[in-house]
Amino acid sequence: MKQSLSYARPIETYTNTKIWLSSPHMDKGELKHIQEAFHMNWVAPIGPQVDGFENDLSRYTRSASVVALCSGTSAIHLALILLGVEAGDEVICQSLTFIASANPISYLGATPVFVDSEEDTWNMCPVLLRETIIDRIAKGKKPKAIIPVHLYGVPAKIIEIMEVAKEFDIPVLEDAAEALGSTLFHKAMGTFGDFGVLSFNGNKIITTSGGGALLARNKDAEPKARFLATQACDPEPYYQHSKMGYNYRLSNICGAIGRGQMEVLPERIRQRRSNFDFYKNALSKFKGVSFVEEMNGVFSNRWLTVIRIDPAITGVSRETIRLALKKDNIESRPVWKPMHLQPLFAEAPAYCNGLSERLFNTGLCLPSGSNLTSNELERVVARIEETLSFSFEHAHV
Ligand SMILES: *Cc1c(COP(=O)(O)O)cnc(C)c1O
Repeated sequence: MKQSLSYARPIETYTNTKIWLSSPHMDKGELKHIQEAFHMNWVAPIGPQVDGFENDLSRYTRSASVVALCSGTSAIHLALILLGVEAGDEVICQSLTFIASANPISYLGATPVFVDSEEDTWNMCPVLLRETIIDRIAKGKKPKAIIPVHLYGVPAKIIEIMEVAKEFDIPVLEDAAEALGSTLFHKAMGTFGDFGVLSFNGNKIITTSGGGALLARNKDAEPKARFLATQACDPEPYYQHSKMGYNYRLSNICGAIGRGQMEVLPERIRQRRSNFDFYKNALSKFKGVSFVEEMNGVFSNRWLTVIRIDPAITGVSRETIRLALKKDNIESRPVWKPMHLQPLFAEAPAYCNGLSERLFNTGLCLPSGSNLTSNELERVVARIEETLSFSFEHAHV
């Protein structure tokens, strides 16, 4: 077992080996499935490995339909098209997220309307969402869709969000790119809304080197998604096109990697959750350092462990800790910079309560790969402890 854990990485024998935030973690099954694909000479977009991967995903998430695509971003783009979003429309999007949640809104010439987060999950605040919808309608435009995100694998308050969406009859597209394996009352994230999106980018909990999937509650959406993702070819023996399409399908080789990764997903979740427990046990003793807890019914895949540092109590800023880690060749990252603070979206309407901006200033993502060794985890904690203790001693002389 230990062997397979360090499979793709050099065995760390001395300190100062680079510790990554979240690196790919391959096992043995991936190559086996790739060999099958090579043996059949099926080295193409689509193919039996992609079909198998889609089956694995649909069984795992219990989603009515799954379409594997070349990225999570392309899945969001297709979902917005299937929801009828057009130029001039407005789409509500969580502000605290990675830009891929919002860019596809712009691809369609629509305008993103950003909504801030709430304290419990750091995701879209359902109360602020309701106020936003009422205000947008009063200003003359009913939003076409709502995009909440399950950031860092922590489920958003999706039941409350779905209630608001239902009240105003607006469809929901869940960005579950970081949340494969997370559930709320045993239901997979990405299966609550009309559409859900997963990502298998290199840094996610499982990876196909690059890839994504579109989950749909309505089975009718599936053939439409496949049609649009394959250049919208009309059913003729020659190439005829009545609609504009895209080249968004996943390669059969990437599908093969995905099948191998699905075999070890439960183990990967266990490992990431154990990272979280380790950091929490070690760092909770410091006042002013806090973690996002699991609310009632929540199971998080703990894709990344994120700490929130209150400099007024710790005397140390997030940046001081980040630089101390960097000095020891340890990669950590500030929490996503909110979309309403991005130069790209300076003109977009935003409904804010200040939380996402505070989280950006005080949140730090710690190394969270499922392939981290206990030595590596201890090294990260030692650097953070040093930084916090040093400031604590100096603040009290
Ligand atoms: C990774 C990610 C995406 C996009 O996925 P890609 O596969 O990289 O296109 C979308 N949203 C969030 C929140 C992500 O973290």
